Amino acid sequence: MIHLKLHKYPRTVQTAGGASTLLGGTMNDIITKTCTKCSENKPATLEFFNPRASGTLRADCRTCRAVSNRSWRLNNQEKVKALTKAYNAANPERIKARNKSWAAANREKAAATSRAWRAANPERMNATIDTWRANNPERADEMKRKGRRCRRAAEANTTSEPYTTQQILTLYGSDCHICFEAIDLAATRICGGPGWERGLHLDHVIPLSKGGTDLIDNIRPAHGLCNLRKGTKLTESKGITNASI
Ligand SMILES: [Zn+2]
Ligand SMILES: [Zn+2]
Repeated sequence: MIHLKLHKYPRTVQTAGGASTLLGGTMNDIITKTCTKCSENKPATLEFFNPRASGTLRADCRTCRAVSNRSWRLNNQEKVKALTKAYNAANPERIKARNKSWAAANREKAAATSRAWRAANPERMNATIDTWRANNPERADEMKRKGRRCRRAAEANTTSEPYTTQQILTLYGSDCHICFEAIDLAATRICGGPGWERGLHLDHVIPLSKGGTDLIDNIRPAHGLCNLRKGTKLTESKGITNASI
């Protein structure tokens, strides 16, 4: 379709031999078009000329177009801002997807930007965290535990690896490894809360302070009270005994 309309523009047909002629061309001929801005002869293709909405090629080449677009944007920064804002507001999903893929491709930059934003907006950050915690109490609890565990492992200068409560329960079941009785998984895990004594704690079989690791094979489910009573003592448990230490 574009090719039919090319005849509107100044054009020459250059033969492989270099001579310009409108007649007698071969299949190897390149149809060129003269840019109205830089007057250069360029192949009359989409690679060199932007298309118009009507399907014809623009009169100025892509290079010239880019230069004039850039200078227009520089001279109309407020307009550009408003247009961008309007576009972003009208296409939230697209913007989200674009940001996400950019962040995935630029992890370090994204982390730095996010850090800087958090530092500059502590109150908004806290509000966001509070809202998330309120909407995801279980995950928030798990993250808190994880943070505490990591800190303790770091303090004890021991090996640590990420694991979840679910992983521990899947591996070792939900009986207390100290008294062998069932743990009440519905009870609170926070010491002092109602029923916490029978609730779930993840116990380091060999305590971190005694050189135990924060790895899955050193973690067992325990009652809150059993775990607390045990403290930093070494106790016999299913699978791991003092003798094996
Ligand atoms: Zn040009
Ligand atoms: Zn117990």
